[in-house]
Amino acid sequence: MDMSVFDLFKIGIGPSSSHTVGPMVAARRFLVENGPLEDVVSVTAELYGSLALTGIGHGTDKAVLLGLMGETPQGVDPDAVDDMLAAADVDGELRLLGEKAVAFTRKQHLIFHMSENLPEHPNGMRFTLQRADGSTVSKVFYSVGGGFIRAEGEAAGEDGKRAVRLPYPFNTMAELLGHGVSSGKTIPQMLRENELTRISEAELNAGMDRIWHVMRDCIQHGLETKGQLPGGLNVKRRAADLWRQAQAGDSANQLPHDALNGVSLYAMAVNEENAAGGRVVTAPTNGAAGIIPAVLKYYAEDCKPVDPVAGVRAFLLAAAAIGMLCKRNASISGAEVGCQGEVGVACAMAAAGLVAALGGSNAQVENAAEIGIEHHLGMTCDPIGGLVQIPCIERNGMGAVKAITAASLALQGDGTHFVTLDNVIETMRQTGADMQAKYKETSLGGLAIHVVTVNHAAC
Ligand code: SF4
Repeated sequence: MDMSVFDLFKIGIGPSSSHTVGPMVAARRFLVENGPLEDVVSVTAELYGSLALTGIGHGTDKAVLLGLMGETPQGVDPDAVDDMLAAADVDGELRLLGEKAVAFTRKQHLIFHMSENLPEHPNGMRFTLQRADGSTVSKVFYSVGGGFIRAEGEAAGEDGKRAVRLPYPFNTMAELLGHGVSSGKTIPQMLRENELTRISEAELNAGMDRIWHVMRDCIQHGLETKGQLPGGLNVKRRAADLWRQAQAGDSANQLPHDALNGVSLYAMAVNEENAAGGRVVTAPTNGAAGIIPAVLKYYAEDCKPVDPVAGVRAFLLAAAAIGMLCKRNASISGAEVGCQGEVGVACAMAAAGLVAALGGSNAQVENAAEIGIEHHLGMTCDPIGGLVQIPCIERNGMGAVKAITAASLALQGDGTHFVTLDNVIETMRQTGADMQAKYKETSLGGLAIHVVTVNHAAC
């Protein structure tokens, strides 16, 4: 499959890869593909399905405007976003790709189709531009999870990229394990050789080191930042206070299992940053962005590796292999298969990465990933208020702890086990297909409506 470690781990902005990163990329791509823009007189963006239903809570409205302005998830300054959007709203105009100003009001030019879906995916959007001569151009895009986008009719997984011939092609874990047997190489070694068909070794290492650097910064920023998260739920950030208490030794529960307290706080710190619209790395999505950084930090600091740089790179490569398989053979989109495809997949990736970094065999890597997904099967996506906050933030803390447990179980075995990773990925796909739409990032079911009901009853 033609996917890269840098497709799974993308530096971007919170709070959502499918609802923020993807729409920003799509909005920008639409204009880039339809330039020059001198004679454009108007642009309209229409959001469908899950993008419409949870778009405000997930920042889709802001992301679309930023993308039309020419911003990218990687390049935009999270601290400047509010001012940029406020200026556009006050002026009643957008500067398309930073070049051409057109009149734009959210009410008139950003349309939410709450009860309509486009045919290929629940996260659909249509962009239309009109030129001075009255002609129009329209294009549909889908945000298919993890910040990946696809234009209407574009083959799944292509994302407009050039296909390359890989030394270790794989579409299933069975194939990758088979390559391992015939080559004698580890999963990270094979993934590395695949990556080297696209970029140099120096670029690959620098890119992975940068990913880890941004993840570490994100944890640190989250552990230092207090206050309330945006969006109206008045959710208080907890990671900083809990971390300070843990460091001071005055945590409320000084128990042996507190050894994992730090791991869950690292994950929550990242997801609080994500919920606040901060700089995060998709891993493989924004909603599940805390699990892999938390387990990586646990590896780098608590497991006392001899060569942490090499270990972190091996971790990311093995984790990417699992993410690629899940994306190809099921989905990493909460709107398509529920949270099992986000937190469940991130847990599996982290478990596999930890086993690889600790020197486990390919079979143990596969076993850890399988355990990671198996115990998230059926998990729905029902964020309260359409915000990536409850249950998402704590759920990342739980996912990180489960990933370490999964890795530990796998490392204690010899890799033989009953359910294969390929089996469990297919199970996740079918479970997602059977899941009612109200549990798939629409905020029309589950916790989302229960809490609204309770609050209304209290009034
Ligand atoms: S419940 Fe899971 S899938 Fe849904 S928004 Fe939260 S983290 Fe993402």
